[in-house]
Amino acid sequence: MKKAYRNLMLCTKDCLCLYVCPTGATDTEDSIIDLEKCIGCGVCAESCPSKAISMLPEELPPQQPKTDAVKAGLGGMAQRKADEEKQALQLAQNAGTDGLYRLMNAIAKSSRLVAEDLMREAGYMLPQSANSRELLKEIAQMSSEEDMPAAAAKKLLEKIKFNE
Ligand code: SF4
Ligand code: SF4
Repeated sequence: MKKAYRNLMLCTKDCLCLYVCPTGATDTEDSIIDLEKCIGCGVCAESCPSKAISMLPEELPPQQPKTDAVKAGLGGMAQRKADEEKQALQLAQNAGTDGLYRLMNAIAKSSRLVAEDLMREAGYMLPQSANSRELLKEIAQMSSEEDMPAAAAKKLLEKIKFNE
């Protein structure tokens, strides 16, 4: 069965989905659709004007395998994009003009999006894949000084049903 998932970055909070959902699954304190209540009817996704809700199968297929050479190449490119993002943010902090500030922030954002895409292509497309589990384990073991979301990674490791 498919269930409804809300993309919080797209949701404009006009609340149509709250009115149409027959079970109240969309009406939650944290804006995350209650999967226990969702019966997969899809009415919320159809009614959402922002296309913020997707109907996804509960069991997703395994991650498509990638060779080590592909993973290493894409990982290296993603690292360079992450470095570019950092540099752009530093330049934005020291920008003397509003135009430069906005340009550097735009470059930082674009670098982030490309890095995310590269990581997906490198084998982290699906959150429940073995690759993603190993990555989350690594992050969970990092210390807070390394500025990584270790606590969030631990929580995800508990919540995600890994399928590989
Ligand atoms: S209908 Fe769409 S945009 Fe409106 S609150 Fe629901 S998810 Fe958000
Ligand atoms: S799919 Fe149906 S039951 Fe599930 S959240 Fe959307 S409207 Fe509610």
